[in-house]
Amino acid sequence: MRQQTTALVLYSGGQDSCVCLADALARYENVETIGFLYGQAHAIEMQTRLVFLQKYRETFCDQAKRLGPDHVLDISGYGEIAQSTLTVQAADTRRKDGLPATYVPGRNLIFLIAAAALADRRGAEVLVGGMCETDYSGYPDCRRETMDAVETTIRLGMGLDLRIDTPLMALTKAQTWELTERLGGQKLVDLIVTDSHSCYAGDREHLHKWGYGCGQCDACKLRAKGYESWANQQEDGA
Ligand code: ZN
Repeated sequence: MRQQTTALVLYSGGQDSCVCLADALARYENVETIGFLYGQAHAIEMQTRLVFLQKYRETFCDQAKRLGPDHVLDISGYGEIAQSTLTVQAADTRRKDGLPATYVPGRNLIFLIAAAALADRRGAEVLVGGMCETDYSGYPDCRRETMDAVETTIRLGMGLDLRIDTPLMALTKAQTWELTERLGGQKLVDLIVTDSHSCYAGDREHLHKWGYGCGQCDACKLRAKGYESWANQQEDGA
């Protein structure tokens, strides 16, 4: 049974947020999407997210009737104050605190507060995000504990009873592929492989079994590893 409400999906066009979109359409009656220009060094994901949306609408046209508008919010000045290798083209070096250099300080917090303001306007009762602490990237703003605190902050600071739904929080990357297949079969798996984008280097030239990417950055390695382990499980089970 789908919940008779509107959910707003934080949708970057990355693998996780594409799966979250399909999952939200399975569980909520109305779904809208929001993406952010936050000063990311590679504009590619802002293009691929639109391509994925378009192809998703064509492939799953029944569901797409319940898929509302896509919203893009420009907070590109944010990338200037919160620097990371995702917002500044620089060598991938570790931070002093041990967090990956791709960490953009406070990014998810800003996204969630901005999304909450949009949810208020659009009458959405749920925010959906692909944060995950299992194959943990080390980002402190991907933890469920943080999401609980943000829910409280939104309630106290904005007067909104908004739920932050994180369907991938407890899943391994292999389980995320498994969920993908359960939600939309091979068609959705294929669409995620070819049209979702994860690579930090913005590589759309090299196509692997698991999708496009340089194959070297942390995002590619994580995506490849998850895919391999899912594929191996399928072989074992066959
Ligand atoms: Zn890569």
